[in-house]
Amino acid sequence: MQDIRWSTFWFFFLEIFLYFLLAAIFNEKIAVIAILLAGGIYISSHLYWIYKLNKWIDSPNLTNLPNGTGVWINIFAKIYRSYREQKKSKTQLTTTLDHFIMAAEAMNDGIVAINESNEILWSNKKAQKMLSINPKKDNNQPINYIFRNTEFINYLEKENYTDSINIENSSNNQHLEIKVANFGSNQKLVTCRDTTEIKENEDIRKEFVSNFSHELKTPLTVISGFLETLEDRRTLDEDSIKIVSMMSRQAERMKKLIEDLLLLSNVESSASVNRSEKISTKELIKKLKIEVSLFDKKKHKISYIIDETINIYGSRNEIFSAYINLITNAIRYTNESEKITISWGKVNSDAVFEVTDSGIGISSKHLSRITERFYRVDEDRSRDSGGTGLGLSIIKNVMLKHQGEIKIMSEPNKGSSFKLVFPSERIYSK
Ligand code: ADP
Repeated sequence: MQDIRWSTFWFFFLEIFLYFLLAAIFNEKIAVIAILLAGGIYISSHLYWIYKLNKWIDSPNLTNLPNGTGVWINIFAKIYRSYREQKKSKTQLTTTLDHFIMAAEAMNDGIVAINESNEILWSNKKAQKMLSINPKKDNNQPINYIFRNTEFINYLEKENYTDSINIENSSNNQHLEIKVANFGSNQKLVTCRDTTEIKENEDIRKEFVSNFSHELKTPLTVISGFLETLEDRRTLDEDSIKIVSMMSRQAERMKKLIEDLLLLSNVESSASVNRSEKISTKELIKKLKIEVSLFDKKKHKISYIIDETINIYGSRNEIFSAYINLITNAIRYTNESEKITISWGKVNSDAVFEVTDSGIGISSKHLSRITERFYRVDEDRSRDSGGTGLGLSIIKNVMLKHQGEIKIMSEPNKGSSFKLVFPSERIYSK
């Protein structure tokens, strides 16, 4: 293998040797001319191969790469090898990319890759259809300029992508579930799923429950009325009184269940509810105290720590029923004359309503499911205390509709703390 440094060294060595040889045989003048001539030939040959290399770079192709002479053989061989390897890895990369694109296209979900400035880098066909992206025009454009949905834009800007969001695309009445995930260096992957059919089925189910509850309400009210009249009659014997009062209690439970079912389906479905009412904390808490004092037969030590300067926008009825549900639970699941604390105020930038009790508590294995409909830790205890199993589910939905959340902390035999957290956007100060 020839090294350019060795070849240059040998060239100058031979030049000097030639100079002295010719100077000794002929004279110095001839020697100078001879080495200049040899130097000229040497440089010209290098210039020639540089020219050839330059020409090859203009349109590189393995078949027309020159062979070169001297040190250039080695240089051209190296270029040949690295060019061939580069081509090979490029082909491999293209194949992998093709496979990835094919897999992404075959998916049922829409996928959009965006950069740190939310500009679209790539999208599959499903996403192009769902979010109305035209890849020719819209690539490198911020996704929020192309898919202009307020909820999606807020979600994207908040940069908290733990949960997905469900939105309705008003342009085609399509329901979408969208989730963003961070990947690579500062890139994000937006996945979207068409949930229109699921939403439609859910709406049918909710409508059914709502209609069914409505239909049951009237006959049940009539039955309850008759039972009450029967209970009041003095002509009944002792056994009949017992039976009638049992029937009356069960009818009451059914009424409560139907009321809760109706409330839940109203919260879930009603888009018509005004959730921007100005709620005065002072008035709400006043009403709450009256209601609680009527309800609390077990006479707990209830203390209120209320910051009346913090008020929120929301649905007065829904929020009142959420608060009452939480307090009712605390009363139900806490022994007589034990302590219950109800507090309201600002925590960090959020507004938080908290009910803390020193009751029976809930073991951690139930906590993740406690807000599901009809989920009860102890079925009999809930029933005996008049629970329907829907309270926390109603509260969770009320909070969802107010962009807030419910946070539960509990320890068996020590007590529980239920927090309703409202985002700062809902707070107003008087
Ligand atoms: P229920 O009508 O049965 O009270 P909820 O949805 O309000 O239904 O509550 C679900 C379950 O959560 C209850 O059955 C009960 O086991 C448990 N729970 C709720 N609140 C409390 C509390 N403050 N202390 C202990 N357990 C509670």
